[in-house]
Amino acid sequence: MTIAAILKHKGSSVTTVAPAATIAEVTHVLAAHRIGVVVVVANNGELLGILSERDIVRNLAEHGASALDLHAEQVMTRNVSTATPSTSVVDATARMTAGRFRHLPVLDQGRIIGLVSIGDVVKARISQQEEEVDSLKAYVAGGP
Ligand code: AMP
Repeated sequence: MTIAAILKHKGSSVTTVAPAATIAEVTHVLAAHRIGVVVVVANNGELLGILSERDIVRNLAEHGASALDLHAEQVMTRNVSTATPSTSVVDATARMTAGRFRHLPVLDQGRIIGLVSIGDVVKARISQQEEEVDSLKAYVAGGP
């Protein structure tokens, strides 16, 4: 199973912010969309970084309330690990586990076409395993 199969159900909507957005603004975006991460993009749509609720908590702990005035580009992670539609779900899970992050933007020829979370990949793997168990049960039940 590939990331393309997850995006087929989930869709390609990705919540983005500009690099100049303040952390106060980003918290409103995260709360309004009930999400844990935003992707930071340039005017031309180029992926610049990723900014998660964990980055905000870390900066609040370090700088106090003044962290809310920082800009997304000052807080985001720049070295973003990404997937493509043909990345396998097993590989995406391994990358997130090894990198200790829960989100993976999906790029197709450099263009952002979606974002998958650790929850999405775990759900996809469980439903695939359930399908395999069901077909094995049907095979055994229909046996001689
Ligand atoms: P998360 O678990 O996704 O909330 O993110 C935990 C930390 O990893 C934060 O510092 C994020 O900025 C960073 N992060 C999240 N996703 C990625 C990614 N795909 N590539 C690199 N860093 C990431």
